[in-house]
Amino acid sequence: MATQKDPLVSYRKKRDFNKTTEPIGGKLQTHKEARFVIHKHAASHLHYDFRLEIDGVLASWAVPKGPSLNPSIKRLAIMTEDHPLDYIDFEGVIPQGSYGGGTVMVWDTGTYRNIKEKDGKAVSLHDCLKQGRIEIFLEGKKLQGAFALVRMERRPNEWLLIKMRDEYADARANPVNTQKKSALTDRTMLQIKHDATVDEN
Ligand code: MN
Repeated sequence: MATQKDPLVSYRKKRDFNKTTEPIGGKLQTHKEARFVIHKHAASHLHYDFRLEIDGVLASWAVPKGPSLNPSIKRLAIMTEDHPLDYIDFEGVIPQGSYGGGTVMVWDTGTYRNIKEKDGKAVSLHDCLKQGRIEIFLEGKKLQGAFALVRMERRPNEWLLIKMRDEYADARANPVNTQKKSALTDRTMLQIKHDATVDEN
């Protein structure tokens, strides 16, 4: 949009699209149902990228330990640059030496609903993002239920990802460790890496 600052400037600056197969991202898109993705990303440090469709892009957080279903566990979530909506089904290998070099898996994906209310009224995601408190209900292939993302005071890029208490909370489950295949292609990280190597030859 001409009147609005392009939110993908930072995303594009970090990448050389002659080298990486990640999408360049075209016009801002919107989709009827808001979608989310959690990428498992074996970069220099393994982490999970939690991305929510908000205002036509994917607002993104890097979560070193991945999501937990235990409401008493708060997982650090570091806000990163907005990604294009096309990134939602990106799975493959970012070349070594490029920004974020390493294998990327669609660990979970699906739709979500904004459940944040104030005084009985819905608060838009745009406002939730600005105010530093997001409450959403995920309907993914692996994760379901309510989650909160809460910005820490005095540390604008550091948020906490917390499972809210509901019937889907489970203090003993550890989906990050027990569910290791792609929600999109049913492949393991090794298979994704292997397939990308085969493609090159
Ligand atoms: Mn990442």
